[in-house]
Amino acid sequence: MSNALLEVQGLKTYFPIKGGVIRKTVGYVHAVEDVSFTIGEQETFALVGESGCGKSTTGRSILRLIEPTEGAVRFDGEDLRALDGEAMRKKRRDMQLIFQDPYSSLNPRMTMRKLLEEPLRTHFSLSQKELDERVHWIADAVGFSRDQLGRYPHQFSGGQRQRISIARALITNPRFVVADEPVSALDVSIQAQVLNLLMKLQQEMKLSYLFISHDLNVVRHISSRVAVMYLGRIVEMGDTEEVYCRPMHPYTQALLSAIPRRDPSDQKRRIHLEGDVPSPSNPPRGCAFHDRCSRCMAVCSETVPAPRRMPDGRLVLCHLYDE
Ligand code: SF4
Repeated sequence: MSNALLEVQGLKTYFPIKGGVIRKTVGYVHAVEDVSFTIGEQETFALVGESGCGKSTTGRSILRLIEPTEGAVRFDGEDLRALDGEAMRKKRRDMQLIFQDPYSSLNPRMTMRKLLEEPLRTHFSLSQKELDERVHWIADAVGFSRDQLGRYPHQFSGGQRQRISIARALITNPRFVVADEPVSALDVSIQAQVLNLLMKLQQEMKLSYLFISHDLNVVRHISSRVAVMYLGRIVEMGDTEEVYCRPMHPYTQALLSAIPRRDPSDQKRRIHLEGDVPSPSNPPRGCAFHDRCSRCMAVCSETVPAPRRMPDGRLVLCHLYDE
């Protein structure tokens, strides 16, 4: 892996649960629980897992759009959690977010030109000529013509709106982008176009991505390393191809077994998970997956497994690999 641009260490994000007449804090939702990883220069690192596993909260906690409860986030060696509001606001020109739903993130009363100018006006003091140059550059990069700049969001298709969203995130020339389910609202036929655009722009602009998705096929296509999350924790993390070809954690094995295969006889290998994901406001003792794991042992319901480094470099959080 190349040098780390982003280092996340022991990240925890808890949300208070309020109860009673005086709205006292009666507990916490453990949305992100002791998450650590690094992302290299020009790397695409993916967080994957079922809805509600904490992957989006992790992305927003890194950008401090949600304030983390504990842990360190270093960007290019700088401790982001030590920055005050104004310094963090300036830092966001280097660290951007692409949203899942381009329609709700684009102001319907603004033309594409205004939508693209807005982040530049927030972060820089530029003349109108400089704004125009920058807007024309990013419009070219994401495949729009000049005469489309005067149109409104409703005059574009879903895929085009997502390209406007990407252009808005990249117009400040960031180094790091959190892409939170960037293609899941799009038709399958458009998804590949948007993914290819993200990969092209990564090369051209030397970007690093934190790519968040529940779609295992998309993650395999775009990422070089992947972390699988379950109930706020990373349970397996490693080289994407290694993890996909030889998953080690029982949860990763079950997730990957559910990907539709071309050969129908392969379907019998599918591992069906029993029960639901437990509540993050009342996580189970021990391994959070133990209620649903077919390989559960006595120790699993008592002790949280420690991360183990495997010979191929991946990390796995499971007592099956205890020494
Ligand atoms: Fe299953 Fe135990 Fe491993 Fe958890 S620690 S995944 S319960 S074998």
